[in-house]
Amino acid sequence: MSDRPALPLVFDEPRGRKKPPRHLADLTPAERAEAVAELGLPAFRAGQLSRHYFTRLTDDPAEMTDLPAAGREELVAALLPPLMTPVHTLEADGGTTRKTLWRLGDGSLVESVLMRYPDRVTMCVSSQAGCGMACPFCATGQGGLQRNMSTAEIVEQVLAGARSLARDEVPGGPGRVSNVVFMGMGEPLANYKAVIGAVRRLTDPGPDGLGMSARGVTVSTVGLVPRMRQLADEGIPVTLALSLHAPDDELRNELVPINTRWTVGEAVDAAAHYFQVTGRRVSIEYALIRDINDHGWRADLLGDVLLAAGPRGWVHVNLIPLNPTPGSKWTASDPRDEREFVRRLEAKGVPTTVRDTRGREIDGACGQLAATAT
Ligand code: SAH
Repeated sequence: MSDRPALPLVFDEPRGRKKPPRHLADLTPAERAEAVAELGLPAFRAGQLSRHYFTRLTDDPAEMTDLPAAGREELVAALLPPLMTPVHTLEADGGTTRKTLWRLGDGSLVESVLMRYPDRVTMCVSSQAGCGMACPFCATGQGGLQRNMSTAEIVEQVLAGARSLARDEVPGGPGRVSNVVFMGMGEPLANYKAVIGAVRRLTDPGPDGLGMSARGVTVSTVGLVPRMRQLADEGIPVTLALSLHAPDDELRNELVPINTRWTVGEAVDAAAHYFQVTGRRVSIEYALIRDINDHGWRADLLGDVLLAAGPRGWVHVNLIPLNPTPGSKWTASDPRDEREFVRRLEAKGVPTTVRDTRGREIDGACGQLAATAT
């Protein structure tokens, strides 16, 4: 059947890059105690430092008055080294949507987006600088992979948002991050270890971590089947999102090139397996692209493929009107076709929502993150 060349799998980062420095957020509580002991300090200093970082949301040594002044700067320099600097922040929706461009220590650029809603604050974070998955409709996919991000670099994007909310810098009063979605730059499951570390830091109770609910964390994937199965066994009930975008292999091979490695059937089965193991309803992401994947028959086929894979209620579909990316000939579906797509899925009993496209005008919506410094 498939005489296509095997897709080069970009799971390993390019060699020769400067590694990000070790940071408290890379380490488990036990590893933090060891790191502090190596500096000749009692282990409980690690807990104090964790409390400053994750609970008090400060990385400024001047505010850490419970740490002895002698050696405080050194401790902070050793365990809370700067990881990234903001290049700029763009705002939309009256300041409640904020996209930040970050420069990492080696010069790589990544973006994160904070979205405040009446009832929640969602941070959309990057897990890699660039992306190796090459989906043709996604801006990030066009530039290839620069490198994997470290656990602490991933976590620090959330902490930066948490700090600005705590300091009342986002309209709506002081607040907290309630949701994190791995829907920024990169394929999270291609940087598996660092992403799991980040999920643990976000969900570990304070002062070891940020104390978020695992349900509030969504890991979105192109469908790296072995990693999806591994994620099911981690024992952290995060929400899994599968970026499907087509119910048939012929079209999905074009839209999500990794499909030539793991088919629609295999990816959907792994998603259903995730539901069986965790009890968490899986989200199927489907960017509606005019005249490409928005046909009525594809809505019907999508419904059939999903219903065949698991028990009723295992899945819901999240339709994303395509966000235009520079140079692409594709656009969002006609609203009538979108409504018909929703109607057909719901007629089959598949719950379906249409995602709002916040931050479009600041290129901060799904698939628009390209991280150029200009
Ligand atoms: N690599 C992960 C996370 C990346 S982006 C993944 O693919 O799931 C999060 C979602 O945005 C994915 O569903 C992705 O397919 C979608 N997306 C990418 N480009 C888009 C675009 N131009 N318009 C709408 N959605 C897009």
